[in-house]
Order: sequence, then C-alpha cells, then structure tokens
Amino acid sequence: MLSDFSTLLFAGGLISGMGLHSIVRQKLGRNRTARELVSTESMFRSLAEVVPIGIFTTNSNGDCVFANPKYCLITGQCLQEAPGSEECVFSIEGQCPSAESCGRTAQGKGWRNAIHPQDMEAVDAKWAALLTKGTPFSIEYRIQRPGSPLVWVHAQAQQECASKLPLGMYVCSINDVTANKSAEFEIQQLAFFDTLTGLANRRLLMERIKQAVVASTRTGNFGSLLYLDLDNFKLVNDTRGHAVGDQLLQQVANRLKGSVRDGDTVARLGGDEFLVVLEGLGKSQNEAGVLAESVAEKILNNLNEPYLLAGVEHNNSPSVGLVLFGENKTSADELMKCADMAMYQAKASGRNTVRFYDPEMQALVAARAALESDLRHAVTTNAFELHYQPQFDATGSITGVEAFVRWHSQERGWVSPASFIPLAEDTGLIIPLGDWVMHAACRQLAAWANDSFSAGLSLSVKVSGQQFRQADFVQQVLAVLERTQADPKLLKLDLNESLLLADVEDIVEKTNALTAHGIGCSLADLGTGYSSLSHLKRLSLEQLRIDQSFVQGLLTEPNDEAVTRSIFALAQSLNIRVSAEGIETQEQHDALAAFGCHAFQGYLFGQPLPAAEFEKTLESHRVSIRK
Ligand code: C2E
Ligand code: MG
Repeated sequence: MLSDFSTLLFAGGLISGMGLHSIVRQKLGRNRTARELVSTESMFRSLAEVVPIGIFTTNSNGDCVFANPKYCLITGQCLQEAPGSEECVFSIEGQCPSAESCGRTAQGKGWRNAIHPQDMEAVDAKWAALLTKGTPFSIEYRIQRPGSPLVWVHAQAQQECASKLPLGMYVCSINDVTANKSAEFEIQQLAFFDTLTGLANRRLLMERIKQAVVASTRTGNFGSLLYLDLDNFKLVNDTRGHAVGDQLLQQVANRLKGSVRDGDTVARLGGDEFLVVLEGLGKSQNEAGVLAESVAEKILNNLNEPYLLAGVEHNNSPSVGLVLFGENKTSADELMKCADMAMYQAKASGRNTVRFYDPEMQALVAARAALESDLRHAVTTNAFELHYQPQFDATGSITGVEAFVRWHSQERGWVSPASFIPLAEDTGLIIPLGDWVMHAACRQLAAWANDSFSAGLSLSVKVSGQQFRQADFVQQVLAVLERTQADPKLLKLDLNESLLLADVEDIVEKTNALTAHGIGCSLADLGTGYSSLSHLKRLSLEQLRIDQSFVQGLLTEPNDEAVTRSIFALAQSLNIRVSAEGIETQEQHDALAAFGCHAFQGYLFGQPLPAAEFEKTLESHRVSIRK
C-alpha cells in the first residue's frame, strides 16, 4: 500500500501540484469512515516520512501543524520541543537533532523565519490569498539562515477540503531548486554578462540604455552614456601576452564599478571598450553635463592609477567620450554612435582625456571611416609607391636613400602618409602595408645594384612597431632579401623608439639576428615618445636618428637643442653614429655638423622623389662628389 502511495505522490500528486490529501482521498474513495480518516492520517504521516519532497501543513491561521523531515532538511529548520509542551516549534538555530525522525506536530508561524527578508512580502501575500480566498499558489523563494548558503525553493500550496483531517487544511510542498536556479543564473550570466569581467554585455547594455532613455524622458531627468577605450591596449596584448591583457581588463572593470553608483550600468562591449550609463543627473541640461563630466574625470583619474599586472607595475590611460540624453527620445543605437564618436574625438585630441559629443565631429568620424575603407582597398590592390630621399655624409657624399611610402588614390589623389599611416597603425593594416614597403624597397635595392650611379647606396626602410613585434619578423625580412636578391648589408631598418616599451629581450634577440645577417638597425624618433633609454645599450644599433621636429627647433628652441645634445652624448657613449633628418637650412646643417653628426637628410638636399626622378638627380649628386 505504501509503495503504491509513494508512486502516486511522485508521479501525479505533489509534483504536479495536487495536494496529499486529495491523493489520499482519491485512493480511499469519497465515503470515508472516521476510522479510515484516522488511518489516512497515519498513512499521510508514513508517506510524508519517506517522500523526497518537503511537506508542511497549516491550520486556517497559517500556523504550522505538521512538517515532514525533508522539509526540515531543505529549510535547515528543525522541530524542537517547546519547553513545557507536548508540541514542537520551529527553530532556525542549531542543528536539527534528528531530522529523520522529527515528523512531529509543530506549531506557530516559526516556519516563516527562514524566508529571505526580500521574499517575505511575496510569500506572505500568497499565503494570505490562500487562507482568505482559497487561492492556490506556486512560488519560488529563498531560504536564508545565518552562516548557511542560500537555498532556493519552489513551493506549491492549496486548500484541502478535509476539515476533518487533524493535520491541517492547507498543504504546502516544497522542492529544493537551488541547482536549477544556479544553472538558470549561469545561463543568464552567459546571455547578459561578459564572462571575463562580469560586467553587462552588449545585449544587456542596449536594454539598459533603452530603459534609461524611457525613464529620463518620463521624469525629465538627464542621463549620460560614457564610452571608454583604453589607450594603446593592443601594445599590452602584443608585448605581455593575452593573459596579462585580460588582467588589465578585469582591473579596469573593477575600477569602473568602484567609480559609479550601484544603480549605474557598467558594460564591456568586447576588446578594450567599456560603457557606463549614468542616470538621474538632474533636470537641468547644464548641470547634468557638469555632473557627467565630473564622473568621467573621476573615472579617468581612477583608471590612470598604476596597475599591477603579473607583478609588474603598468600605466594605462583611457579615452572617454560622453553624450547626454533626456530631452528627446533617442534610440540606443544612436546614443552609442554619438558616444563612440566623442571617444574618437578624445583619442584624436591626444588620448587620456574626456570629450563631449559634438555633432560636427560626426563629419570627421564619417571621413575617417571612408578613409579606412579606401585604405583597405588600396592595401589589397597595392596602390602605393615609394619615394626616395638622399642621405649624405659629413663630406657631402651621397651614401644612401630613405624610402617613404606614398598612396595615390583615384578619388583622393595623393594622400599624405601623415594621415594614412596612423590609421593603418590603428587598424592593423600597417602589417600588409609594411610588408609591401619591404618588398618594394628590396626590389629597388636589387635594381640599383646594377647601375654604377646607384650601386652601393644603402636604403633605409621604416618599420612600424607592430610589424617588428611579429614573431617571424626576422624570417620575413630574410625571405624578402632572398627573393629579391638585394644585398642585406645595404638594407637599413628604421625602428621607432616606442618599440622600447615592448619586450626588450625580444628586441635584443631580433636586432642581434638582423645584424648578424648584415642588416643595419637605427632607432628613429628618439626623445619624441618614451624616455626609457636604459635598454639602448643592449640593442645592436648602428645609429640614432634625430627627428626632424628637433632639427627644426635646433637653433630657436633651447629644449630641442638640449635633446639634440643629449642624443649626441648618448650615441657617443654607445659608440654609434647619429643621423639627422628634416634639415632645411644650411645653418641647421652646420649646427648638426658641429655636434659631430654623421649623416644628413632633408629638403636642403632634396625632397623624396619617385624612383625615376630620383635616379636623374643621382647623376648630379655623384658628379658633385667627384668634383
Ligand atoms: P617621419 O618618419 O617623421 O618622416 C619624415 C617626414 O618628413 C616625411 O614625410 C618626409 O617626406 C618629410 N621630410 C623629409 N625631409 C624634410 C624636410 O627637410 N622638412 C620637412 N618639413 N619634412 C621633411 P612623409 O613622407 O609625409 O611621412 C610622414 C610620416 O609618415 C613619416 O614621418 C612616417 O611616420 C610615416 N611614413 C612615411 N613613409 C612610411 C613608410 O614607408 N613606413 C612607415 N611605417 N611609415 C611611413
Ligand atoms: Mg621621423
């Protein structure tokens, strides 16, 4: 009989929400005798002892009349004998001494004590409706006891018209659904949160922006959307590896959360792009702007504090764009675009700064997007050429040539590398472009080897940091030399000082390998960016190059003169040569010569020219040497 009942309880009864009493009634038929009812109660107790579901019953006041051991186990409550009473009361303190055997009559509303305070109101409302109107219910709520993990339960309760049953009219069954809840939570996390940082992801962000816009148009309170992008984040990934890059992103996420109020949304779009939605900034647009900007500045300061990444201190700034919303209803997409544009404006203004959205900026951003698309096309169709500028030694003899890339676009005409090289760096297009430059330069070098005027001239090629950091960069260069049959001894690579930020061991290894093959390496743009020169000694460098910005200020700006002087001192201590570019006047040339400069280059001697035109000038250069 018992097993029969258990099956019933499992199969159709409790799980589908039917009450125990009704099952018992069904089983026994409608015309029960008092004896049968007594046996029903004992049957009910027997079953309740063994079922894997928590069961408790209450009287019409909601006082607990009965609870089974499973109920005690799930809720962690136990039935303890009340002092001086035959009955038990619920207690949430201490361990249940004998949960298995305590299916005894209980009393009172102590069962409510374990309900999580935040769920109490909802549970009470359900019970009130059941007790006053007989409305059955089904609800999920949390059980929280001090020092114990949270338990989620699913409770179903209904009224039994078995007033004669001494075990109470209202039967509630509860299931422990904690495991389901955590699976549900995990799915929700995956769907709406970024796995690396735990911040909101794009989907949740868009939802939150929509809600914020609706709320602010309703209340008249302005809000703001902040778009943040870390400056030079790619460098961290490239030089210190993705695991360290991830650490940085996590620390940034924590700082962002710490910089705003609890209700504000902080999201990560992927990569190093973060967004913050600020709400309730007040009804005055001006004040809202001031407030939003002060939050953005606070974020900027917090993110500028040094980070500790794998035990090494690291500094990383962000660029922040912000846009206000509230006056008119705007779409989430539109706001994102505006904030993104403002962020680009912050980047363009030198990074590590905050910028408001400015409609005029839209035109600039659109222009940049168009340029990027054209550049992409140019890279696939090799729409570039190299121009060459001569380099001279201290005696005035031409010794080499520097190659500069030029882009001739059908729609745009000649595009300055000063505008497309930074874009190529930002978009990664510098890799295929740099590869094209290397091929074209080496082909030219090989061609010049066959002409008496040009044979023996060295050729300097600019190498971007991204290009150089490729693991197989040295092999790539050697392969190009092999393919073009250019003389490695005439190939000079101009590296940029920003390289010194990267993994120094890697640079030492690569410059050593290149030098071993006869390829010369110089460091250009010294003093323009990063002043960490301590590793210079370890690099196999042939020369230091003085940037044209210092040459141009050499005779007028004391600072430029000081930098130039220190570069010469540095080169002397390293025992390497110095070359200067951008020389426009004889006075600049003479001042550099007085410092002991070894190589000279600039408009004073000639502009960069296409190969054919450059070759024509070579004759006169050579002739002047012979004179
Ligand atoms: P940069 O490395 O500072 O190059 C020097 C720039 O000054 C070049 O401009 C050159 O044509 C110009 N120049 C040469 N002599 C003089 C002079 O006497 N006076 C003045 N005022 N300017 C002079 P360009 O060719 O427009 O290149 C601009 C920038 O684009 C370069 O700055 C460099 O950063 C980048 N770039 C150009 N070609 C290449 C290339 O083949 N590869 C890479 N990675 N970057 C390149
Ligand atoms: Mg330069």
